[in-house]
Amino acid sequence: MIEDTGTVEETGKDNSEDSRGEDGTGHAGPQAAREAAARRDLAVRAAVERGLLTEADPIVALLDVTGIRASAAALHAAFAAVTAPDTRVLHAFAVKAAPLVPVLRLLRDEGIGAEVASPGELGIARAAGIAPERTVLDSPAKTPAELREALSLGIAVNADNPQELTRLDGLPHSALTRSPIGLRVNPQTGSGSIGALSTATATSKFGVALRDEGARAWVVQAFLDRPWLTRLHTHSGSQGVPFDLMAEGVRTVHELAEEINAAAGRQQVDTIDIGGGLPVNFSSDEQTPAYADYARLLKATVPGLFDGRYGLVTEFGRSLLAKHGTVLARVEYAKSAGGRPIAVTHAGVQIATRTVYNPESWPLRIAAYDAEGRPKGGPDVNQDIAGPACFAGDVLATDRPLPLLAQGDVVAALDTGAYYFANHYAYNSLARPGVHGFTATAGTTPGAVRFATVRPAQTVAEIVAESGGGDPDALVRD
Ligand SMILES: *Cc1c(COP(=O)(O)O)cnc(C)c1O
Repeated sequence: MIEDTGTVEETGKDNSEDSRGEDGTGHAGPQAAREAAARRDLAVRAAVERGLLTEADPIVALLDVTGIRASAAALHAAFAAVTAPDTRVLHAFAVKAAPLVPVLRLLRDEGIGAEVASPGELGIARAAGIAPERTVLDSPAKTPAELREALSLGIAVNADNPQELTRLDGLPHSALTRSPIGLRVNPQTGSGSIGALSTATATSKFGVALRDEGARAWVVQAFLDRPWLTRLHTHSGSQGVPFDLMAEGVRTVHELAEEINAAAGRQQVDTIDIGGGLPVNFSSDEQTPAYADYARLLKATVPGLFDGRYGLVTEFGRSLLAKHGTVLARVEYAKSAGGRPIAVTHAGVQIATRTVYNPESWPLRIAAYDAEGRPKGGPDVNQDIAGPACFAGDVLATDRPLPLLAQGDVVAALDTGAYYFANHYAYNSLARPGVHGFTATAGTTPGAVRFATVRPAQTVAEIVAESGGGDPDALVRD
């Protein structure tokens, strides 16, 4: 495995063969999809048998360790296949997608670093042992203290805007040369299908808007004035942004790097951070598009990015984790209203916030299991899968055809490994569910499944304490 030393790893030839669990092309094809589903079924059965899902803990989240490792390997292989030998590549996981220390440690074990955007995320990355040289700080609202801390640690920083550059100008030169420092630009290539996740619109809040009048010349001059500014960063979108727009954004940034370097008369920009944003297929177990598809498109669109003159940083989040997470919840009650069957479960807005508030953009697959955790059979009946929260919209799936759920059955919300259970929403003071990693091999038995606790479930005592319970008199004391 790759050592946590040096700013960015060298991707050697041997990396391209590191594609465990894939079919060698980097595609997790139908066979890999079947195996992932089989591992999940085993884990659900085992979770019920071993009491991970109980009356006290009626909701639990599972992470497929085998699947996460395979996705990390596919990411390495995809870029190793298109980069010149000895290209410096750092794949930094966007921590916000799954801010869980053991998950970051697992990814570190697979040669993946961390992209952080807050003191909390930096703390999580450090607790996971991610080396500063393999950590990138990207927040759009870094305070002076955050900047000083990142620079004192030697963490790469991408400045967001002119004021942040001015702030950096005020720091000692030694601080500015310890960390690689870049500037985030917004290529303004346009919006995807989900406005809230489209980072490259004309008016996006992120980075320096490159097509605004005078901006490009300003950026070039900003680099010429600051020899310590050596990186360019863009993240042109997340779920819903079309591939070719993402590639177009990267092409724009590469062109800008060439322009800066020509003006500087030297390779001042030595690294390009292309962000993350690979979309995830939420409609089946297949992992499409694959990292290999994106890497090939980038190579075709921006060949100069891969000729070995530039180091590369990527910041994928959702695509590394989403397919490998499953939320299990007990059906507490099965009822009917207006002729529609409704399964009232313990999984709702607290773990699937985006889906509940914006179901058109974020539909989730639901799988039905019986009380013993076996896949449920029977004819499909259109029904609602509701959550436990006290507002009418708290529904995971509306009018969804599934075998008719009964009290005590188990529902699974699939593809929830990124931005779902890891991004808890504390509505109704519902507890953060426990998260367990599992290792299972398709074709074995539930008894062979191994679990490890990633995060215990939040207790009522913790909820009370976090809700000011330590000082009930705070507002009535004179
Ligand atoms: C959220 C984010 C990412 C990760 O995006 P995904 O869609 O999860 O891959 C990467 N870089 C930045 C700057 C981000 O804000």
